[in-house]
Order: sequence, then C-alpha cells, then structure tokens
Amino acid sequence: MLDRFNGPVTVSDTTLFVAATAGVATYPEAGNTAQSLLQAADTALSLAKRQQRGTLAFYAPHMQQETRARLVVASELRQAVEDRQFEVHFQPIIDIPSRRVVKLEALVRWPHQERGMIPPAEFIPLAEESGLIVPLGRWILQESLRSIATLRQCKGCETLVVAVNISSQQLPAPGFAASIRELLDQYQLPGDALELELTERSLIQDRPEVREVLSELGALGVGLAIDDFGTGYSALNYLRHLPVDLLKIDQEFVRDMGTDDNDALLVQAIISLAHALRIKVVAEGVETEEQLQFLQDKGCDFAQGYLIARPMPFQVLRGFLEGCGTRHG
Ligand code: C2E
Ligand code: CA
Ligand code: CA
Repeated sequence: MLDRFNGPVTVSDTTLFVAATAGVATYPEAGNTAQSLLQAADTALSLAKRQQRGTLAFYAPHMQQETRARLVVASELRQAVEDRQFEVHFQPIIDIPSRRVVKLEALVRWPHQERGMIPPAEFIPLAEESGLIVPLGRWILQESLRSIATLRQCKGCETLVVAVNISSQQLPAPGFAASIRELLDQYQLPGDALELELTERSLIQDRPEVREVLSELGALGVGLAIDDFGTGYSALNYLRHLPVDLLKIDQEFVRDMGTDDNDALLVQAIISLAHALRIKVVAEGVETEEQLQFLQDKGCDFAQGYLIARPMPFQVLRGFLEGCGTRHG
C-alpha cells in the first residue's frame, strides 16, 4: 500500500509528490477491541511520523510509555509558556574582516526544576506540533527586541542587530508582520535592528500569504536570513523572488571544511552563489582559528561559533560586550 501511494500524482496539470506513513497494530498483542487496536495503531503512526515519514511502524508496548511521557512534557510546556519560564540567550556574530561583533543570535532555553536547562532541540519540535510555538515565538521576539533596545544604548553598540529564529508556523500566522511592527514601535527600534532566521522549509512551498508577510517585513527594513542553508532542499528558486539578505551556512559543512575537500568546495560555492545574488553569508559553528582563516580567505562575511563565544544570558553578554568597539575573536 505504501508503495502505491509513493510517487507523483497529477491533479489538474500539477504534479504532486505524496507519500504515506502507516502505523500497524495486530490482534491480540496490541488490544482486543476495535477501539484499543485503532488507538495502538495511531500511537505507532505518530511515532513513525516523528521518526521517519514514509515508513511503517508496528505497535510495541514501550510506545505507549513514550507517548505518555511526551504528553506530560507537552502539558508542562503549555504551563511554561503561560508562566514564561524561558530564557533567551545570545550568541555573538562577528563581521569577519573587522572581527567586530555586529549581531547577536537569540537562542531560547527552558530552565526546568528537575531536569536542568533543557535545550531547544528537545522542546521546539514539541512546541511546533502543539501550536505553542506561536505564543512562545512571540515572547521570544519581544524578549529579543527588548534586550537589543537596551544594548543599543551602550556606546559602540548603537547598530547591533538581533537575529531571531522563526518556525514555519509563525510566518503565516495572522498578524505576524503587524505584531513585529508593534514590537519595533514599542521599543523604538528601526526595522533593521531585527533579522529573522527562517529555514528553507518555510519558503519552499511558495505560499502567497508567506510572500506577502515577507514583503511587509522587507518594507519595514527587517532582514531575512536562510538558516541551515544547504541541509534541506536544493530548490534555489525562492532565492530569485524573495527578499533574502543572508544565508547561514550550516555548521555541518563548516566542521568538516578542513578535512573534507567536498565540504570546502561547497562552502566556497555557497559564498560565490550568494555574492552573485548580492546576498551576504554567515558561517555557523566556527570553532577553530583555521576555520575562521579559511572563511576569511573565501570572502565569507560573518562568523558565529564557540571560537568567538558560546550563547550566554543577557547579564553575561553585557560584560562580554563591554567596550563593544573593541575587537573580539
Ligand atoms: P540553529 O538556529 O542552527 O542555532 C545554532 C545552534 O548551534 C545553537 O544551538 C548554538 O548553541 C549552536 N552552536 C553555536 N556555535 C556553535 C559551535 O561553534 N559549535 C557547535 N557544535 N554548536 C554551536 P541551540 O541553542 O541548542 O539551538 C538549537 C536549534 O534550536 C537552533 O539551531 C534552532 O533551530 C532552534 N532554536 C533555538 N532557539 C529558537 C527559537 O527561539 N525559536 C525557534 N523557532 N527555534 C529555536
Ligand atoms: Ca538559527
Ligand atoms: Ca543552523
């Protein structure tokens, strides 16, 4: 059945690529009523969807526990969003030629009473699945803009930019551009104090409402960056007709640049492609002096990574930026 679903389907002259995912429950191991069997199949299905779409998963009892554990975390997350139990940390991004800090990427963390600091990779997907990403994302934007407004009052930091990650559901949510305009007004910031980091996934579908939001944001002067560039889709079409200002080369390529010739060539090719389109380039995950030198030789514009600084809480950042005009990295 899955094979039959796989592959192109033509619907009124448009070719669509669809795939199915299936969860299977067998009698009597997984249940002995129609209802319990369907429930078990559904549990297996949601696991298959999370782990590998397009495949088939058979129900096993441990899945029930995992689902229950996820439900517990999901309800804690709901409460945490309501109580704003999150922290936004900031990681400096330098302009490579001058080595000055010119931007900060806002990265959210969840300090949890029992489990310590929970990294975003563990709760952002859950927030996306449950729709909580919309209120959480709004709070992150507000915190980020509030922080950058404060920092910009310090000498040498007047033009600092904050880059905020935006999930694919946030962009088409009603009133997204308007809420950004309001936040900029509230903190008396120009549009170019903010940069939004989107993944290719948000742009690839080419939805008219997304295009509209992007052009509204463009009119405000808000910057648009493509995050994790090169890891997702290779359709480059959107680069032609969307107001993209920056590409962020994924840390995966940066990490192996020194040892893998293909990665080095890819990094070089991304920089050339971007520059030909008048798009600037940020390299992520820069951990060594050699990597920074290589990127500088290839004309990469900005760098971010542990070599320069790890993400840090606002108070620590203030110390780090003290005398922001000085060289970092
Ligand atoms: P990302 O946007 O690609 O963020 C970069 C990640 O790389 C961050 O992980 C950062 O701490 C880490 N990193 C920075 N420099 C280095 C380095 O030199 N070496 C290595 N190995 N790692 C480095 P983090 O903070 O755990 O965030 C993980 C992901 O979670 C982010 O990936 C982003 O996709 C997502 N995320 C974080 N904050 C937010 C948010 O506020 N909203 C949304 N929607 N997603 C977020
Ligand atoms: Ca990012
Ligand atoms: Ca990335």
